[in-house]
Amino acid sequence: MSSADPIAADPMATDSTASLHGWGRTAPSTARVVVPRSADDVAAAIAAAGPRGIIARGLGRSYGDPSQNAGGTVLDMTGLGVVHSIDADSGRVVVDAGVSLDTLMRRALPFGLWLPVLAGTRQVTVGGAIGADIHGKAHHLVGSFGNHVESIRLVVGDGSVRELTPDGEDSELFWATVGGMGLTGVIVAATLRLHHVETAYFTVDTEQIDNLDDLMARQMIDDESYAESVSWFDAVTTGAHFGRGLLMRGNHATAAELPPKLRRDPLKFDAPQLLTVPDVFPPGLLNRFTAKLFSELWYRKSPTRSGAIQNITQFLHPLDILGEWNRGYGPRGFLQYQFVVPIERDDVIRTVLERMSAAGKVSALNVLKRFGAANRAPLSFPKPGWTMCVDIPVGPGLGALCDELDALVLDAGGRHYLAKESRTSPEAIRRGYPRLDEWRKVRDAADPGGIFTSDMSRRLELTHS
Ligand SMILES: Cc1cc2nc3c(=O)[nH]c(=O)nc-3n(C[C@H](O)[C@H](O)[C@H](O)COP(=O)(O)OP(=O)(O)OC[C@H]3O[C@@H](n4cnc5c(N)ncnc54)[C@H](O)[C@@H]3O)c2cc1C
Repeated sequence: MSSADPIAADPMATDSTASLHGWGRTAPSTARVVVPRSADDVAAAIAAAGPRGIIARGLGRSYGDPSQNAGGTVLDMTGLGVVHSIDADSGRVVVDAGVSLDTLMRRALPFGLWLPVLAGTRQVTVGGAIGADIHGKAHHLVGSFGNHVESIRLVVGDGSVRELTPDGEDSELFWATVGGMGLTGVIVAATLRLHHVETAYFTVDTEQIDNLDDLMARQMIDDESYAESVSWFDAVTTGAHFGRGLLMRGNHATAAELPPKLRRDPLKFDAPQLLTVPDVFPPGLLNRFTAKLFSELWYRKSPTRSGAIQNITQFLHPLDILGEWNRGYGPRGFLQYQFVVPIERDDVIRTVLERMSAAGKVSALNVLKRFGAANRAPLSFPKPGWTMCVDIPVGPGLGALCDELDALVLDAGGRHYLAKESRTSPEAIRRGYPRLDEWRKVRDAADPGGIFTSDMSRRLELTHS
């Protein structure tokens, strides 16, 4: 198979060549793509990999290049897609690594089970969720994906399968794999612990807040009383309403809270997708004018309101209404800039926005959230503090601006998210992740031959030293 625009490789193919890119649609590269159907297939592909090595790929929803491997092998893990068991009482599920969170939700909801950590899209595999240790709107209470993994089956560099648990003999390798961006081995299956819910709906409080300081102050007050909390903010409007936004917080609705119509099927997977964006947009479609228009509409669409009942798409995944919405940025693609800074350095959020504005860069999709505690994984991104992400179309001057923003973030003790970044430097990762050497030691032991490599690992010098 050869394709100009594959996000996941063709699931029918078992061995082919493809040009692959991430969700940001920048820096594509060509690799041999193998679709394993078992741990044995994975071991065989590792044994057959050439000098450019091998890397696992889920649904390609990372923004940059972590699941690409120019001139080497990429394992399309969606061929390992079985949900093996669901235990309704304990909430324990055993799944292949290529199962998407969308599929798992559809299968688990009828049992009253809910994935405690969901990213901004459900089109993410279990392997990709562990590999990036994804976080969601519930991070302030439940932490990131790795906190809910009970065991991992990992194929390591010599092709053997390791069973890893968070507190067992191999716990160091477990935590190096969580957030390890596929560089410790290939996850073939995992056991996860889901939460019990009565319904698939949320009771949502939305607050329209007309400036950045108040938006952040509100999130400091009573976030803990909401299971999920996030804010969208306007990065275009200047003056007194600079950084105005919508604070959206919700709890799982009980059956009694639903209107009679929804009460008939409270666990229905209610997540409509309306249309898929065609690949026809020119570069430059998102400019100051369109971003201002979008920001105005988005802000006005949700007036302050308490206790609204919302479905999965409305509350958690509004972007999933549009399939392949990244095409709207045109062929040059876009960059998502996401970082976290300690809670007391909230000034960095404002400064980043001001610098973007001064550089004439616009972003319409902007998210701000307060993280809770970090977990034990050395490369896990979330830590207590503010995380912010903005989507900026690729264009002149973007590199220089981002270098300037990097310095602000790192000087404040912050860091960047490996699943979202596509252009930062090895030095920025070393500074942002002070436990990098600890991770390297565990990774080197699991993969002494340095077989697991990706475009990202070469770019960020995460390969063997
Ligand atoms: C619209 C959108 C919204 C998003 N929102 C969020 C968000 O709110 N929070 C968040 O945390 N992330 C978010 N993301 C990022 C996304 O959740 C992560 O990039 C995730 O890792 C993508 O999973 P994937 O299956 O597509 O994996 P890929 O992107 O293909 O791979 C991600 C990494 O995991 C590794 N990997 C994949 N499968 C395996 C495996 N079986 N074994 C070992 N390693 C493996 C890859 O090598 C790679 O390093 C968002 C992405 C999009 C497109």
